[in-house]
Amino acid sequence: MIVLKSRAEIEKMGTASRMVAEILAGLRERVLPGTTLLELDVFAEKETLKRKAKPAFKGYSGFPFSLCCSVNEQVVHGMPSSRVLQQGDIVSLDFGVVYGGFYGDAAITVPVGKVSDAAARLVKVTEESLYRAIEVTDAAHRLSDVSHAVQAWVEPRGYSVVRDFVGHGIGKDLHEGPQIPNFGAPGKGPKLKVGMVLAIEPMINEKGYEVRVLEDGWTAVTCDKGLSAHFEHTVAITDNGPLILSLI
Ligand code: MG
Repeated sequence: MIVLKSRAEIEKMGTASRMVAEILAGLRERVLPGTTLLELDVFAEKETLKRKAKPAFKGYSGFPFSLCCSVNEQVVHGMPSSRVLQQGDIVSLDFGVVYGGFYGDAAITVPVGKVSDAAARLVKVTEESLYRAIEVTDAAHRLSDVSHAVQAWVEPRGYSVVRDFVGHGIGKDLHEGPQIPNFGAPGKGPKLKVGMVLAIEPMINEKGYEVRVLEDGWTAVTCDKGLSAHFEHTVAITDNGPLILSLI
């Protein structure tokens, strides 16, 4: 089921999503060679509580942290640890909060110091694919147009789209319908409508799309150890088209 949100509800979701964006901006500044993933998690949680919000992921299906940190070949759902970020790494930071009964969810992939041209290009193309998808997130399109926009942007550039994880509707629940794959033929699925709020999140691999989950039960990695990048925004469909809520 896809729950439509009123204008007032979208405003509340904007408040939650802006907090996510602010905290991600703070995290981005802290991504430096020598930073540990746990330091990032502590920062994210502290900043959330300071704003009288709650971290969305902590305790979700038993996930023990506030932040997902996925380094290099890790795709999503990486666990904060004492791992020290090294120059040349790329790290995906996926973060969400709940505030006033509504969730906001966003992700960025950040280069650690100077990274290879190959890593920088993957990050850039993945972020571009998110904006391509957002461009068609309006009441003139169907759900799979969003999916197709990601695939059509990244595959001609030599990358692959992760199949096993998808974007999602968001609102009073972190994960609502519909599921939003980042691949597929255009023109299919439900018509998009004003009042839908979608967390669109391309997960793009440098090499093959196959992923597996490590023994910790959470961390997804590429099977071929190629790099992976991930960007996400919470986007509301309005009368004026897509409105990105997770911007500062
Ligand atoms: Mg999400």
